[in-house]
Amino acid sequence: MRIDVLSIFPSYFDGLTLSLLGRARGAGILQLQVHDLRDWTSDRHRTVDDTPYGGGAGMVMKPEPWALALDDVTRDSARPTIVFPSPAGERFTQATARDLSTREHLVFGCGRYEGIDERVFDYAAELGEVRLISLGDYVLNGGEVATMAMIEAIGRLVPGVVGNPESLVEESHEDGLLEYPSYTKPSIWRDRAVPEVLLSGNHARIAQWRRDQQIERTRLRRPDLLPDGDA
Ligand code: SAM
Repeated sequence: MRIDVLSIFPSYFDGLTLSLLGRARGAGILQLQVHDLRDWTSDRHRTVDDTPYGGGAGMVMKPEPWALALDDVTRDSARPTIVFPSPAGERFTQATARDLSTREHLVFGCGRYEGIDERVFDYAAELGEVRLISLGDYVLNGGEVATMAMIEAIGRLVPGVVGNPESLVEESHEDGLLEYPSYTKPSIWRDRAVPEVLLSGNHARIAQWRRDQQIERTRLRRPDLLPDGDA
């Protein structure tokens, strides 16, 4: 999978050289390139923002650096998916991550200030599929942290990134429920015992217990995920 990131703070992404994603990059499974949007400006101050038409607080990202950058990073790409993180976008879920993990080429455009001139989204739609995606119902200072979260969630679903693919199947949100509780040695720690069933060696009982725990946990913590829960 090829991923291009456009940002005015490329060093945010230095952490993506670590751990599983770092290894996947080293192995050529993920080709991740982070670009400085200011490289597509032409003035002495490398300006990427300007005042909003109609007045109001804050600055808006100028369209031309975005258009030039998008042209360049999508030039050799048949049909890229261009993601703009935005608090006003569709909500990012495990299903979104799974969907995006099947794409050949993802481009992430990280907004800053009050956001990006709206015409950039129309322009980008001529170059590929455009998705405006929100990490959640809160406002971040920029799209970088949202992009990192999405790249991590998407990247670990790309075949070969996580060593044991079975570990992905049982995770929270994969089957619409939260994951069951996990324990490791010692079996008694600070007077707290591991549930007896997990020491029983009875695989059917363990599977049933884990399923019950998933349902109970989801009911208590995230009833909205259950079919009869509140949306
Ligand atoms: N004025 C915008 C609004 O009210 O919708 C918010 C702009 S925010 C300060 C700057 C940038 O942060 C956005 O362009 C977007 O890239 C990113 N951002 C902020 N909150 C986000 C969220 N919940 N999910 C994804 N990206 C977010």
